[in-house]
Amino acid sequence: MQFKSKVVLITGGGSGIGKACCQIFAERGASVAVIDIDAKKAKSSANEISDRNDIKGTAQAFPADVSLLNDAKRIVDNIQDVLGGVDTLVNCAGIQRYGTAVSTSEDTWDEVIRVNLKSMFLMSKYVLPKMIQRGGGSIVNVGSVQSLGAVADSLAYVTSKHGVLGLTRSIAIDHGRENIRATCVCPGAIDTPMLRWSISREGDSEKVLEICKKAHALGRIGQPNEVAKLIAFLASEEGSFL
Ligand code: NAP
Repeated sequence: MQFKSKVVLITGGGSGIGKACCQIFAERGASVAVIDIDAKKAKSSANEISDRNDIKGTAQAFPADVSLLNDAKRIVDNIQDVLGGVDTLVNCAGIQRYGTAVSTSEDTWDEVIRVNLKSMFLMSKYVLPKMIQRGGGSIVNVGSVQSLGAVADSLAYVTSKHGVLGLTRSIAIDHGRENIRATCVCPGAIDTPMLRWSISREGDSEKVLEICKKAHALGRIGQPNEVAKLIAFLASEEGSFL
């Protein structure tokens, strides 16, 4: 019950890693705001939690496109009104697109930077004053191994994920003395709809999956809840000096 009476906002909460986060935080007592661009997925993720009798926390769906200023502002205000505050923000919403500097269109560049990076800025911008008012809080951003290195044909994604590290470090430096902790996780390949879509682009999905597994020290890909548990640790009091 690490998160009893804590309000936790999770973007991209309708699928994959974000959905696993919603479950872990709710299992540990949080009031979870499930934010996703897809209203149906947000609702179903929240309902899966509400339907479980063994969960002490709660979950409510808040559909929004967090890459748009008006949506980000509206949703944060709305959550404050409905749930009574904001303690933790998990910025997980993201998209994957492919291309080099030559083949990436301006529209694709703008879309990836807007969804993967600008959304984290906007959500932080509106959440931080509310956290500060409450005496502190924590923000966990979902980067990627591609925050730390590049893979081929992924220019916009790699650039956006490198940016997530800079954004995280800036928030940590600017707001640490207001008792705000900002951290970033950089997962490898995790078994989510995004990963399955990515490998389905290649002719032989099974072969690509094997390559993904071999690229990891453990010889396998990760599961969404393995990342969610790390995110919950970073956001909790257990991670109080991070
Ligand atoms: P996922 O299963 O596709 O989940 C992402 C969710 O975010 C989807 O429900 C998506 O909706 C939603 N979303 C997209 N744009 C949004 C927006 N503008 N506003 C609100 N919600 C939005 O992907 P995932 O694999 O769990 O990825 C989650 C995060 O982990 C991403 O930031 C990703 O870059 C990162 N990551 C993933 C892996 C991996 O191997 N899976 C590895 C490292 C990092 P739609 O489906 O409708 O777009």
